[in-house]
Parts: sequence; C-alpha cells; structure tokens
Amino acid sequence: MTLLAVAQLSKSFDGVHAVDDVSFDLEGGRLLALIGPNGAGKSTCFNMINGQLKPDSGVIRFAGHDIAGMRPRDIWRLGVARTFQIAATFNSMTVLENVQMALLSRERRVYRLFQRVASWREDEAMALLDLVGMSMHAHRSCAVLAYGDVKRVELAIALANHPKLLLMDEPTAGMAPQERNELMALTARLAKERNIGVLFTEHSMDVVFSHADTLIVLARGRVIAQGDAQAIRNDARVREVYLGTGASFSPRVSSRAGAST
Ligand code: ADP
Ligand code: MG
Repeated sequence: MTLLAVAQLSKSFDGVHAVDDVSFDLEGGRLLALIGPNGAGKSTCFNMINGQLKPDSGVIRFAGHDIAGMRPRDIWRLGVARTFQIAATFNSMTVLENVQMALLSRERRVYRLFQRVASWREDEAMALLDLVGMSMHAHRSCAVLAYGDVKRVELAIALANHPKLLLMDEPTAGMAPQERNELMALTARLAKERNIGVLFTEHSMDVVFSHADTLIVLARGRVIAQGDAQAIRNDARVREVYLGTGASFSPRVSSRAGAST
C-alpha cells in the first residue's frame, strides 16, 4: 500500500489557485522534496496534509485512511508528524525534558505545567536523543542550544510519536550550508532505517539534489515537473521558473555551496 497518495488536490484563497490539481505518491523510507518559487503553493500543500487547511477538492490517502479534512490531532495520531511543532514551553525545559514531554503527549497523559517529568520514560527519551546525536546535551536547557542543535531536538520530538510520515516545511531555514546538509543526511538515514516517508521543502538546490529521492516542482499551484534529481536538473521548464529567483541552479552537487532564495 502506498504510504501517502495525493490526488487532484486543490485549494483557492479568494479566487487565487494556491494549489491546483496536485497529485503525487510517497512510499515509506523515501524522501520527496516539494520545491518551487515563493508562493508556489508548497506550504498550502503541507497544511492540507497535516490538517491545518481543508482542501477544496481532491483526495489525501495516508496508510489507507482518507485524511483530507480531518483534524490535525487525529492525523497526528495516525502517524503524521511534522517538525516545527515545538511547544511554547520549549525554552523553559532541558533537552531531555522536551523529549519526555513529546513521549507523554503520545500516551495522551495529562501533564501539569511546572510539574517535572523527572525520570518518566527517561531511557526512551535518551535513546531518541542518541539517534539525533544530542544525548550529550540532554541536561542542558533548550534556551542555550545552538540553532542547528534545536533542529535536532525538534527531529527527536517528531520521532517520539513513531511517525510513518514526516512533514518538514523548510526545516533548514536559517541554517548554514553545512548544517543543512548534516540535518538532511541525518533525516535521510533515519527515514531509511525506520521506513518513514519524508515530505520536505527546501530552498537550497544543492541540499535537495543531494538528499531527495524524488522532486516535485510547483509553480503557481501546479506541478510542472516530477522526477529524480537528474531529470529535474535537465528540465527546461524548471530552469525557466527558477531564472530570476536568485536560487542557484547549478548542475553540480556540492555539499558546501548551498544557496538560498
Ligand atoms: P509557498 O509555501 O510555496 O511559498 P504558499 O502555499 O504559502 O506558497 O502560498 C501559495 C499562494 O497562496 C500564495 O499566493 C499565497 O499568497 C496564498 N496564500 C497562502 N495562504 C493563504 C491564506 N491563508 N490566505 C490567503 N492566501 C493565502
Ligand atoms: Mg512556504
């Protein structure tokens, strides 16, 4: 069974076709990048899949469920996680406590603010931190972490719910090129090990070409190209869309020359 099957998905805002007849599939263990200029409809696609927006029309099938129009919490319970879902209390807790909180949330336990989670599920939380290379920072406050390390903690938090699908809308925004590549290499490794499908957006073409198995290019809400890095790199329409956006579109893949729009 296909993990995620999106068919003829559409959404308009005041007559503007933000997402227009978009279809794609994603399997577990694969990374699919949704790319395109600003305003192309990438975030609108994400927000329909995670339940924040209701599609005007179209089908979103996730692990056998029709999830289009379902509430975000119910979609999350089925196994769809996204990064950038850190709590308002994130900075007031340690790295370890934040991951323990995410584990609590999975169990639907009531957690009272200011009550320390102490040793609850400490081993499991530490194992998640180990996965993302953050166990040595477990007892530090999240408020003092470097930016790239916050992203790793976010990834550990997203993994706490054992997701089948991970949605990452611009996960590397604000990161240096090398950090971007490290975060996506880590994500790719975990996705393969745990058979998680990853849908992500990313401005750096170098990062996309290095880590995505498949790319979908959106322009004005429509899919203009779909394929692997090689096919997308050589696609005339894609080149045309990217001209003038300031994004680097070099056919060479380098781990250090990430460019951003
Ligand atoms: P991207 O993430 O690719 O930059 P978006 O999905 O955010 O693009 O936006 C696609 C289009 O939809 C843009 O024209 C944007 O202005 C419009 N749009 C997005 N969200 C809303 C909204 N909540 N209300 C009105 N227009 C919106
Ligand atoms: Mg966006």
